[in-house]
Amino acid sequence: MSPSEPAAPLLEVTGLRKSFGDHEVLHSIGLQVPRGKVVALIGPSGSGKTTVLRSLNGLERPDAGVVRVGDLSVDFSSPVGDRSIGALRDRSAMVFQHYNLFPHLTVLQNVIEGPVQVRRRPRDEAVAEAERLLARVGLSDKRDRHPHELSGGQQQRVGIVRALMMRPEVLLFDEPTSALDPELVGDVLDVIKELAEEGWTMVIVTHELAFAREVADEIVFMDQGVVAERGAPAAVLDDPQVARTRQFVSRVQ
Ligand code: ADP
Repeated sequence: MSPSEPAAPLLEVTGLRKSFGDHEVLHSIGLQVPRGKVVALIGPSGSGKTTVLRSLNGLERPDAGVVRVGDLSVDFSSPVGDRSIGALRDRSAMVFQHYNLFPHLTVLQNVIEGPVQVRRRPRDEAVAEAERLLARVGLSDKRDRHPHELSGGQQQRVGIVRALMMRPEVLLFDEPTSALDPELVGDVLDVIKELAEEGWTMVIVTHELAFAREVADEIVFMDQGVVAERGAPAAVLDDPQVARTRQFVSRVQ
């Protein structure tokens, strides 16, 4: 590769299609995320953002298209085995809208479960890393609490620590703040901003356009299962070229 040639994106999606029954909800979606960059997926409810995100780590099986993360490429146009899905899942970690913590486990147990049970990492090593990460998000004192004893914002920060503990190549966020009371949103967004500054590669589905503007390198606007517009945040949010984007940003901002 010559020095002037840009590196291949870390995450690349081409021709992604997905139907539920006879309703095609994704019509040939493409996405490219360079290493260390942040892409925000925005768009009206039902436009397919979550389905794209879930397809990136095999939580949803697309009907066609290729998802590549690093040197792992999965082509959904032919039958895909569980091993390929597992390999794809190992490359990324998802932060869910509703946190999805195990209610019967403590905070510490929630965040070490994956590394210890799935990745077979030594327990003491996982505990040490968990303590370091919990301290970073201001939750050291919640280590031995159960999720129901935490606020939504605290639970979501635990969700983020759990994702980081998997040491993924890509972090995926599915509307990470939309279940939170407004006063709890800021702390979670601050953690995500810090991760962006540290150079994590991330795809974030969000309704928070001010946040998307601040954190994203690229904004992808989806509408009715297609990418209607993409570009730098200022271009998409301040000077949208497509009528549907204009309508959306003027209503939401
Ligand atoms: P968004 O994240 O933009 O709100 P989604 O990806 O959640 O959009 O949904 C896109 C479309 O797919 C919607 O019409 C939704 O109702 C439909 N859909 C999503 N998941 C399922 C499912 N498991 N079964 C049937 N329809 C679904």
